[in-house]
Amino acid sequence: MPCFDHNATTPLAPAARAAWLLASDGAWANPSSPSRAAARVKLQLDAARARLAEFLGTAPARLVFNSGATEGANAVFAHWAHTLSPGATLALNPTEHPCVLAAARAHFGDRIVWLAPDGDGMVRPGPLADLLARHGAAAVAVMAANNETGVLQPWREIADLCRRAGTPLLCDATQWFGKLPAAGLHEADWVLGSAHKFGGPKGVGFLQAAPQADGFHGQLGGAQENGHRAGTENFPGIAAMLAALEEAETSKVLFETERLAWRDGFARAVAAAVPGTTVVAAGAERLWNTVSLLLPHGENHRWVARLDRRDFQVSTGSACATGKAGSSHVLAALGLDPAAARRVVRVSACWETTAADWTALAAAFGAVAPEVQPADNVAEI
Ligand code: PLP
Repeated sequence: MPCFDHNATTPLAPAARAAWLLASDGAWANPSSPSRAAARVKLQLDAARARLAEFLGTAPARLVFNSGATEGANAVFAHWAHTLSPGATLALNPTEHPCVLAAARAHFGDRIVWLAPDGDGMVRPGPLADLLARHGAAAVAVMAANNETGVLQPWREIADLCRRAGTPLLCDATQWFGKLPAAGLHEADWVLGSAHKFGGPKGVGFLQAAPQADGFHGQLGGAQENGHRAGTENFPGIAAMLAALEEAETSKVLFETERLAWRDGFARAVAAAVPGTTVVAAGAERLWNTVSLLLPHGENHRWVARLDRRDFQVSTGSACATGKAGSSHVLAALGLDPAAARRVVRVSACWETTAADWTALAAAFGAVAPEVQPADNVAEI
C-alpha cells in the first residue's frame, strides 16, 4: 500500500541508487588527494556543483555540499551571530521547521522579531516590508514550502524586498526542491536543501551561501567546499542527490496541475466520507503532495494508527516533532487551538502516488472513522 508520509522522507530513486553505486565503486577516491583518480573525482564533484547551480540559477561557488538542511540552518545562524553587529535582530517566520527555529533561538534569543503570518500561515510581503522599513532587521528567515501544511510562501517577493532593504534572507527550500522548479531560488541569499526529501540518500544536502560569504565556515578544518565546509565530501551521496534532482527537475515537476487536482479531489472525498473534515490553510497556495486534514473527531494518533493497520502511512505532523509532548507550533501559528491541532493528520504523497492511491486513502479514512471515536468513548489500545 502506498506511503503518504513523504514529507518525512522519500525512498531512494532508482536513478539515485545507480549513481550512488557507480560513484561508490568507481569514484571513491578523496577528491582532495593528489592522484589522477582523485582529480577525476574532483572533476565530477565540480560538474555536480555546476549542474546544481544551473537548477537554482546561481553561481557554483555559492553552493556548499553538506549533510542536509539541519546542518545548513545551524551553520547560517552561527555565521550571522559571528558576523552581524552585536544586538542585531532577526525577523523570523514562526512556522519554520524546528531546525531553523532552534538554531535561531540559540543564536538570537530575545533579539527575534516574530513575523505574523495570516490565518493560512502565509507571510505577506507588505507587512514584512513595513517591518523592515520601520524597525529594520539584520536578517530574515522565511521558508519556501511548509512541511506540515504544504503552504507556499511568496519567497520571490520576499527575496526581492530583502534585497532592496539590504537584509540577508535565509530560505529553507527543503520541501520545495524536487516538487517545484528550483529556478529563481538564487534570489534568496541563503538556501537550504536536503536530498532525502526528493529521492536522494539521507545525510546529504546543500546550502546556497550568500554571494559575499568569504568568511562563512560551516565547519572548521580542511579547505574543502571552497573553504566553506571542512570534511571529506560524500561524493557518492552528492552524485545520487544530483541524479534524483535531475530526474525531478526534468520530468517530475512538470505535472503539477494534474496532481493538484488529485490532491483536492482527495480532500473532497475525505470530507464526503467523514463529514466535518476541513483542510488546514485551504485558502493558501500549497504543495501538490501535501494535505493537512482537520478531522471532526478522534485524536490524530488514533487515525494514524488505524490507517497504519490498513497499511496507509500518514502522520500527525513533522517527523521531527514525533514523540514530543504538545501540539504543532505551525498549527498554533495558524490560530488552531491545541484540541483542534490534535485532530490534524498530515498526508504527503510522492511522485509515484497515483490517482487510485489517493482514492484508496480517502476510502480508508471513511472506513476507520467509526473506529476513531473521541478518547473517552473507547478503551485505549
Ligand atoms: N526543513 C524542512 C522544511 C524539513 O521538512 C526538514 C525535514 O524534515 C528539514 C528542514 C530538516 O532536513 P534534514 O533532514 O536534511 O536535516
